[in-house]
Amino acid sequence: TSVINKIAAGEVIERPASVVKELLENCVDALATRIDVDVEQGGAELIRITDNGEGIHPDDVELTVASHATSKLVDADDLFSVKTMGFRGEALASVAEISHFRLRTKQRDQLMGVELEVHGGIVKEPRACGAPDGTQIEVRQLFFNTPVRRKFLKTASTEFAHIAEQFTRIALANPGLQMTLRHNGRCVHELPPTHQLIERIELFFGGEVAQHLISVEAEHAGARIWGFVAHPSQNKSTRKGQYLFLNGRWIQDRSLQHALGEAYRGLVMVGRYPVAFLFLELPPDQVDVNVHPTKSEVRFQDSQTLYRLLLSTIRNRFLSMDL
Ligand code: ADP
Ligand code: MG
Repeated sequence: TSVINKIAAGEVIERPASVVKELLENCVDALATRIDVDVEQGGAELIRITDNGEGIHPDDVELTVASHATSKLVDADDLFSVKTMGFRGEALASVAEISHFRLRTKQRDQLMGVELEVHGGIVKEPRACGAPDGTQIEVRQLFFNTPVRRKFLKTASTEFAHIAEQFTRIALANPGLQMTLRHNGRCVHELPPTHQLIERIELFFGGEVAQHLISVEAEHAGARIWGFVAHPSQNKSTRKGQYLFLNGRWIQDRSLQHALGEAYRGLVMVGRYPVAFLFLELPPDQVDVNVHPTKSEVRFQDSQTLYRLLLSTIRNRFLSMDL
């Protein structure tokens, strides 16, 4: 397989955490209700993700590792109304290009599962296997055939921290998902499914943080904002405690982060980065998520209105509290 393929793969997959992000998004798209993540050595040795989602039809298994094959885009217009997490069909092909890759999958109405192995982009013949309903993907020795990349991986604990962050984002965006995360055989997170986002926040960030959150909610012209923000008397200020989601997907947006900071301006004690877990819901046609391969930056059709909506939602909430 070509050097160009490997370079392209490196653009989508920067580090083990990128693999975890892509695989987790696929599990969500497959409507899984349970996801188990096992990694070894910060993901450099092994990333194994098992879901109980809808699985892949035997006829489509080979397609999943073909570049630009996706089952999620029906026609070009769909690019403008993306509802699923993935839509480019690049991720699995890229991962399989630069690792020892094994996929096992079974759909509920099939008697047997299918196993597919790819080694550094070389696809083996798929074969029947026994498997539970759902999909399991194993990625071993990431970057084994791009030695420079592999050499520049950070320590296992740093790479694992990045993986845990991806896991956290998916877990916060989908509280109903049962999820586990293990590192070198040790259980790091075991999350029961819940209807309450706040319960999940507590599991990740502790009771102290969860206790001092207040709920916010507002709707304006088809846009909805809801979630939790720090009580203004709290002075915990850290960018790491700020989570913003758009239509179920974690995003990074400087303008909205700024609006959040502004909402606390002049209020006692709070720093520039108040803790917040905010969910934005917009009609998909008002967002362009196709800006960056990793999709964490988005473009809004009307970013000023959103800025004001976020700012006024939080401000109004504070006013209602009579601070
Ligand atoms: P995309 O998600 O952009 O379609 P990917 O490369 O991530 O591209 O996945 C390729 C295809 O493989 C998906 O479109 C989907 O059909 C299938 N697939 C991948 N992971 C799973 C999974 N966990 N469960 C079911 N199908 C999956
Ligand atoms: Mg995908």
